Amino acid sequence: MLVAGGVAAGISIQMDTSADDPAVLQNEASAALTVDTAPATDMPDDEAAPAVAPLPIWSKVVGPGDSVSGLLTEAGLDKETSRAVTGALGSAFDLQHIQPGHVLSLGLKADGTPRTATLEIEDGSRIQATFGPTPSVDRLAPQLTSVRRAGEATVDSSIFAALDRAGMPTRFATDLELILAETFDLRAHLGGGEHIRLMWREFRSGDRVVGDPTIDYAQLDLTDGRYQIMWPDDNSRQTRIFKDGELLKTFDQPIRGARLSSSFGMRMHPVHGTMRMHSGLDFAAPQGSVVEATQKGRVAYMGKRSGYGTVVELDHGRGVMTRYAHLSALNDKLKVGQRVNAGTELGRAGSTGTSTAPHLHYEIRINGEAVSPLADTRLRQPDGDTRTAEPLALVDTMQNEMARLIAAKG
Ligand SMILES: [Zn+2]
Repeated sequence: MLVAGGVAAGISIQMDTSADDPAVLQNEASAALTVDTAPATDMPDDEAAPAVAPLPIWSKVVGPGDSVSGLLTEAGLDKETSRAVTGALGSAFDLQHIQPGHVLSLGLKADGTPRTATLEIEDGSRIQATFGPTPSVDRLAPQLTSVRRAGEATVDSSIFAALDRAGMPTRFATDLELILAETFDLRAHLGGGEHIRLMWREFRSGDRVVGDPTIDYAQLDLTDGRYQIMWPDDNSRQTRIFKDGELLKTFDQPIRGARLSSSFGMRMHPVHGTMRMHSGLDFAAPQGSVVEATQKGRVAYMGKRSGYGTVVELDHGRGVMTRYAHLSALNDKLKVGQRVNAGTELGRAGSTGTSTAPHLHYEIRINGEAVSPLADTRLRQPDGDTRTAEPLALVDTMQNEMARLIAAKG
C-alpha cells in the first residue's frame, strides 16, 4: 500500500506523478525502454500547450561503468544533441559522480530529440533539464512516497540478531534501546523466546527505497507483560509507552516525528573521544527542522553558549528549565521574557557549537541539575495528560494496522 506523506521536514511529500506514469518503468533495471504512449501526431510540440499526452520516455538505470554520454548514444542521440544534454545536466550535477542505480530518462519529441532529460540520483533528487525555446535546468527535491511495513521476530540472544534473522532493519534495535533506556534495561529483560512485532515506514522514489526507514510502533511481549511503544509521526511530538494496555509514560519531544540518536548519561563523547556525561538527549534531524517548546514556559535565554552553539532556554517555573542546542536559527519573533506554549516554534535544528552533524540536543534541568528527559516527569504540567482515551485509541489503530500487515505477508 502506498501512502503519501509522513516524510521528514524539508522533503516534498507529493505523490510522485512520474512513478504513476505507465511510461516510466524504472524497475526494469537492465532494459532500455522506448514506450509509445500516444500516436506521434498527438504530441504537443509547444511548451505552453497543456500536457494532453505524456511524452514517450526513454529510461535506463545506470549500470557499472556507464557514462551519461554513452547512455545518450545508446538512446540514439547524435553527438551534438548528446553534448547539449550532458552540458545541461552537468551544470547542476557533476556527471563524474554518476553511479549505478541512478536513473537517466529522456522525454522525447516526435522527431526523437529530447524535450526533457532527467537524472534521478541516490537520495531521490532529480536534475531536470528542459530544452526548446525556454531551456531550464532544475534540481528537484525528492518526491517520496512513504510505505508502511511490519514484521515480527522471536528473540534468541539479542534484539539486533532477531531483527537481522527476520530480515527487518537492525537499526530498530537501537531505537528500542534508546527509547526504553529509562523505563527498564531491555537487554537484562531478555531471556530468549520473547516475541517482538514492529511497524515502520520506508521511503521510496519510484520503486527505489531511499534513506533510512523510520520505526513507528513496537509491541514487545516480555515475561512481565506486553509493552507497546508509539513513536510520534509528523503531526505529533509525543512518544508513548504502554504496559499491558495502560499508558505508562508520555514523553514530549521538541521535534515532530524525530527519532532519538543518543541517550542521557555517561557515553563516549563523539568529538572529544573521552567518557563524558551526556547531559541531554540527541534527536536526529535534518538541518532546518522546526524545534518546538515541549511545554509552556517563558523564554529565559536566546543566543550563544559555547559548546552548545546557538540555544534557546525556557523557564517552566518550579526550578524546571529546558534547553534546545546546536540551533541553526532562532525564531526572530521571540524575545527574552516572552511566554510560549507547548508547540511554539523556538528555532531550527542545526550544528552550531561542538557538533559533527545537524541534530538537536535537548536538556531538562531542575535547579540547574541536568535530569534524564525520558525519566523525569517534573516538566510535564500536572494537568498535562490526564486524558488517556485518545492515546489508547491510537495505539489500538497502530496495533490493528500492524496485525493486518503481518497477516497480509502470510
Ligand atoms: Zn547532545
